[in-house]
Amino acid sequence: MSLKLIRLAAALLALSSGVLAQEGGATGPSTLNPSYKCDPTTCVMPKCYCASSNPPGGLTPAKIPQFITLTFDDAVNSVVEPVIYNLTNYHVNPNGCPLAATFFVSTQWTDYWRVQKLYGNGHEIACHTMNHIGNPPVEEIQGSQIALNHYGGVPKNSLLGFRHPFLLYSTQSYQNLASLGTFLYDSSMVVEANTPIWPYTLDFGPAIGCVTGSCTGNFSFPGLWSIPMPNLNNPDDTINTSMDPLATATAPLTSDGILAMLKFNFLKHYNGQRTPMGLFLHATPALPTIEPQRLTAYMQFISWTQSTYPDVYWVTNQQLLAWMRNPTDTQGSLTNPALGCTIAARDPSNAEVCDGVDNKGDGNIDIGLTESCSYMDQNAYFSSCFGCPSKAPNVSDPNPSTTSTRHFIPDAGCPNAGTWDPVAGQCVNLKRKVAVAGEAPFNPPPGIQIPGISNQSSTSPSQGSKSAAASRFDFSLALALVPAAAFALLTRHA
Ligand SMILES: [Zn+2]
Repeated sequence: MSLKLIRLAAALLALSSGVLAQEGGATGPSTLNPSYKCDPTTCVMPKCYCASSNPPGGLTPAKIPQFITLTFDDAVNSVVEPVIYNLTNYHVNPNGCPLAATFFVSTQWTDYWRVQKLYGNGHEIACHTMNHIGNPPVEEIQGSQIALNHYGGVPKNSLLGFRHPFLLYSTQSYQNLASLGTFLYDSSMVVEANTPIWPYTLDFGPAIGCVTGSCTGNFSFPGLWSIPMPNLNNPDDTINTSMDPLATATAPLTSDGILAMLKFNFLKHYNGQRTPMGLFLHATPALPTIEPQRLTAYMQFISWTQSTYPDVYWVTNQQLLAWMRNPTDTQGSLTNPALGCTIAARDPSNAEVCDGVDNKGDGNIDIGLTESCSYMDQNAYFSSCFGCPSKAPNVSDPNPSTTSTRHFIPDAGCPNAGTWDPVAGQCVNLKRKVAVAGEAPFNPPPGIQIPGISNQSSTSPSQGSKSAAASRFDFSLALALVPAAAFALLTRHA
């Protein structure tokens, strides 16, 4: 192993384990802020909304949907990708739309083309800085937005969300975020499981007690939404964590133990005020390789909510806020555009466009259209529909010069749900058909049965796309295997 590779492995291991330990261990102050005051007669939708445990619109909790947000943090690459698709691709919401998740992407170690695939598959892409920096300066926030826009192919006006790395925030970091004027929400503040609240705007400061000393001075950000992160509690109602459920005495690290804890927390929300529940995860290589019981439990939990309850929706943060601004009861939510499908599978008659989507439906995604970009001196490798810039996007230059003839996506994307063709530099209106659950690019891991989903045959398009993807020369796979091996070593000796 060269010195460079050893440094890379160390950095990746520090990133993976550090994030898990710190971002996932937020059990600090999280009760409601007693000095929070907001007047609902002057703070009105859509620009202002007071924090409350009650549903918006005066609706009765038992008569509205239960929302669950599935979020993933950090880099997106080929190893985390199967984890993600296994959790999201096998179920539909009550309105027939596929589940959608939110990705808080840090751009270091990220393969931009895989971000584009997630966006093309109907998920929300949000910012998490470039280098995973807590209390981030404005350059880290803005740089990630520029890079995800240019090389992830996500329209700037869709990059609306932010999560602070390590959940480390301050008045200054919120000022940095708000100063850019393009973000709709932040989701970094943890709230106690037994005092959950709905998302609200920060016009009147934090409704949740900040980590000591972190919200000093004028903490007021009009119009910027805060989406609280409710803690998960153990089945004995002691605090577990907010992210990446921990193994504890009453929530042992078995699929049954983790599943029982998730059900316990779900029922708190469902039988209470129906405040949104969150399953906040890091899709690390550890999930399928070292702790497959976690992945099994998450998959079983999603299956359980969708097969047991006719009113549970797994939505993106943007969908959640859109529903809150146009709240409807359970019946009305079936046709509420806020919860509409964000994915449309393509019609086979379409030509392949470099947009992260299987346009023809033949199992091949962007074959022959992407380029592999390698920057040894920056330890950066990614694939891209937008050509390879002179160096990898970084915080001092998130928009490096390029000689590529590819065209960046317009800030506003394409009208009428069209797709951007970066080769021709124009919007293309593609024929569409409604996506259905089970049209997934990946199959469940061996031994995991998903209710209602039969194992797909080897001739299905799903299998085709998996082998097509696997046959690509893949820098990020090699990159991601390094921390997997390091994890394995660490576990064996720890
Ligand atoms: Zn993170």
